[in-house]
Amino acid sequence: MKWYPVELHTHTEHSDGDFTPTQLVQAAKARGFAGVALTDHNTKSGATEFNAAIEKSGLTGVHGIEWTTYWGHMLVLGEYTYTDWRGVTPDMIDEAIKRIHDHCGLVGIAHPFALSNPVNTGYHWEFQIADWQAVDFLEVWSRDNAPCKVQSLRAIELWEQLLNRGCHITATSGRDWHREDTRSYAHTYVGIEDELNEQNVLQAIRDSRICLAAGPLLTMQAETAQGPVYPGQQTESGNVTLKLCMDDQTMPHDWDRTAIIPEKIVLVQNGEVIETLPVCAEQTVTVRTQKGWLRADLIGRYFGREEQRIALTNPIWTA
Ligand SMILES: [Zn+2]
Ligand SMILES: [Zn+2]
Repeated sequence: MKWYPVELHTHTEHSDGDFTPTQLVQAAKARGFAGVALTDHNTKSGATEFNAAIEKSGLTGVHGIEWTTYWGHMLVLGEYTYTDWRGVTPDMIDEAIKRIHDHCGLVGIAHPFALSNPVNTGYHWEFQIADWQAVDFLEVWSRDNAPCKVQSLRAIELWEQLLNRGCHITATSGRDWHREDTRSYAHTYVGIEDELNEQNVLQAIRDSRICLAAGPLLTMQAETAQGPVYPGQQTESGNVTLKLCMDDQTMPHDWDRTAIIPEKIVLVQNGEVIETLPVCAEQTVTVRTQKGWLRADLIGRYFGREEQRIALTNPIWTA
């Protein structure tokens, strides 16, 4: 399994960003991303230029859009046509999600707890979702300084509540990239076994083969007689042997290693910490698990603040 940094939330001058689509792709390449999605607000008009720039760059492009409505923002990735957001009222969102799925698209809730009215109309998620199982991903980390934002803590709390209800919903991070600046951003890493391409990126998001990192990348797999089990997949509960790896060489030019310092790894089962481990490049540990879900957090210092979650994995399900 290889883990590739892919940015899933961006804007260009086709909505309210400063980049041309070409400049966006160039900026993604310069920062070390392996792939980038184009998600302008309510338009795909940048797609032709984006596709040409992707072709030239050697990066993997993901086509998308950010549904930008009065009741929340929703990222739509990989939909081969366009489902119109206009006329969709809060109680109709499940129907709209179904239509997007019928068109092979994925939906993710962008910055669910961002400040809304009167600061930013529609930033806060207010759609009434009846079936959370239908939501593919939740952007638990958004924009700069995500690890220590109160919005991130609330989003992770919501995510864990949904996991506790058995919803297989993928946690992602979004730069919500509008322009270049020097702030600190987290990265979404996508686990891919075969070729890195758009369909495999979409499948990895669908399957929750995703890890998030503000600094070093933390990945986790369960070792079983049938082979490795990755985030999003399922293994038997009881004794589970986990291999945890930490890689501090990923995205080397896009995080400040003097300010982001890992201190420990914690294993979280069904919302409770069940094990604390030291930080090292690779370790194997066997833990006693119950039915539910199991994931890992990397905890450390983040720009002077102690005990921050600086990386996290999506969960392995324990049946
Ligand atoms: Zn938004
Ligand atoms: Zn956005």
